[in-house]
Amino acid sequence: MAQDRKQIVVFGSIVHDLISYTTRFPRPGESIRGKSFQQGAGGKGANQAVAAALLGARVSMIGKVGDDIFADFNLTSLKKAGVETAAVQRVAGSTTGTATITVSEEGGGENSIVVTLGANMEMSPETADGAEAVIAPGGILLCQAEIPDAATKRALEIGRKHGVTTFLNPAPGDPAMDQSMLAFVDIVCVNENEAEFITGIASPNPAEAEKAARAMLERGPRVAIITLGPQGCLLAEKDEGVITVSLLPGEKVAAVDTTGAGDCFCGSFVALLAAGIPLKEAAARSVKIASISVTKIGTQSSYSSRAELIAVGRGELVEGI
Ligand code: AMP
Repeated sequence: MAQDRKQIVVFGSIVHDLISYTTRFPRPGESIRGKSFQQGAGGKGANQAVAAALLGARVSMIGKVGDDIFADFNLTSLKKAGVETAAVQRVAGSTTGTATITVSEEGGGENSIVVTLGANMEMSPETADGAEAVIAPGGILLCQAEIPDAATKRALEIGRKHGVTTFLNPAPGDPAMDQSMLAFVDIVCVNENEAEFITGIASPNPAEAEKAARAMLERGPRVAIITLGPQGCLLAEKDEGVITVSLLPGEKVAAVDTTGAGDCFCGSFVALLAAGIPLKEAAARSVKIASISVTKIGTQSSYSSRAELIAVGRGELVEGI
């Protein structure tokens, strides 16, 4: 099986977002009227797959959906972005993952979310074994933490066995995450909360983030990235025992919706890496691409395509893809 360094394989979650906009949150037992409703394709795995594919990368997704109407919606959305979905299984008798979200005017757009992972929770080590032929020839394997840890760990092991660069974004953060999987990870990318869950070190500023990044490098990865919201990201790279740390500043933008910004960063970063763009340059560009996403409403709908970035004069961000 010849390896294709440009091929990205995402092993992760697919979740359908159901968003009700209200004036306030309902109390237990109460039914209130929503003002408007929106639905969208989501899930951290799918978001990252879409972000990478929109920039022009070749992406295959391995995941599970149910046998309901949400399955079609999410598969269509992946395909529309250019993601190969042959390795996404429909599970009979199961439901597609859903996030039921209430966004309330009270509290300035605060939200409350119920995520029911449904078919995503049926991802297992056997799913990874069954997808070995998809993972093995890839260039980069991209995993998150919205499916069972055992499945993610097995996928990372398979990736490592075949010399695929393994990238883990352990989001959403879970203090109980099985950290032994970090032994199979080349690049770990976290936000400040997730960094704290893994290392116990809070990152209120770049100096503390550097400590957390160094602590993550001790657990196996050779590269650790901590995204810092409007401050951009911190990149720590270990090469023959020597650690180099860079702070890559964010762009000052008028942020309207930061949902999915971390997924945009991860997808963009692997798209650039798969195209052969060096690590630091890829991180610097991804920070900028993610900053552009927060100026738009929505998750996948806030991600720019290659053509859109070129059209708004930001072609330098996707040069080489
Ligand atoms: P986060 O997951 O919040 O750390 O954000 C991921 C990436 O999204 C950051 O590294 C930035 O590139 C971008 N980002 C998030 N929030 C903002 C913001 N308020 N302004 C500019 N960029 C942002």
